[in-house]
Amino acid sequence: MKYIGAHVSIAGGVQNAPVNAHRINATAFALFTKNQRQWHAPPLAEESIDSFRENCSRYGYTPDRILAHDSYLINLGHPEKSALEKSRAAFIDELQRCRQLGLTSLNFHPGSHLQKGKAMTDTSIKKCLKTISESLNLALDQTKGVTAVIENTAGQGTNVGFSFEQIAQMIEGVEDKDRIGVCIDTCHAFSAGYDLKSAKGFEDTWRQFDDIIGFQYLRGMHLNDTKKAYASRVDRHESLGKGNLGMEVFRRIMVSPQWDNIPLILETPDNTLWTDEIAFLKKFILSEKNNS
Ligand SMILES: [Zn+2]
Ligand SMILES: [Zn+2]
Repeated sequence: MKYIGAHVSIAGGVQNAPVNAHRINATAFALFTKNQRQWHAPPLAEESIDSFRENCSRYGYTPDRILAHDSYLINLGHPEKSALEKSRAAFIDELQRCRQLGLTSLNFHPGSHLQKGKAMTDTSIKKCLKTISESLNLALDQTKGVTAVIENTAGQGTNVGFSFEQIAQMIEGVEDKDRIGVCIDTCHAFSAGYDLKSAKGFEDTWRQFDDIIGFQYLRGMHLNDTKKAYASRVDRHESLGKGNLGMEVFRRIMVSPQWDNIPLILETPDNTLWTDEIAFLKKFILSEKNNS
């Protein structure tokens, strides 16, 4: 079964996320468990946790349909010790918040090596990837029950994790492979140089994904079109069908059982279109069923 939703708002408290998701007819959703632009957040209130769990069960959002997203400030591959420690502590806090909410996966942006100009080499990427694996080992060791889900990046600036090889290297360095997963963002993949647009490119990309990483690690997808060109290494989401990717890639995903039973999440910029975008995606599945 396909679980389709969007990254919904937590304005007024995390308990509003499942309500917001239900309003757009989503069968999955993503959320931040705190203000994503601040380092410190007050602990989740007991009432908020209870109400979140109640709303999730009322609308049928089991943990396998929910993908939490960590704060944008966290850099688990930071080259400086004190900043790295700050990120690691914040990431552990995020994993614990998920656990409190009964959630089982936390999606994160791997990190940035922050080396500019001449210092920016393959070695700086490798070192960063290794630091991220070490961060994950520390964080998973101090927490329980939540899987850390690596998101592929567009490779903008000094962000790492834009190739399947880099993601595989991070996984390789993690001891507890049962608690590590991957989320592929279609906009990021296309911007990083994976041609999801053509039929052949789509097939090649996912064959590579399976060979290098393995479908068993796929825990979610971000469904976004892109404002930027193929291999631009720039991350700018666009509403489905309105950007350079077009609609076909999303149809291919909807009609394949390979993407069953994981959250498929819109992070498209115009949230007034989410209801329509979700309906459109669901229609692809229906028309496929009618054709077969
Ligand atoms: Zn994303
Ligand atoms: Zn993005």
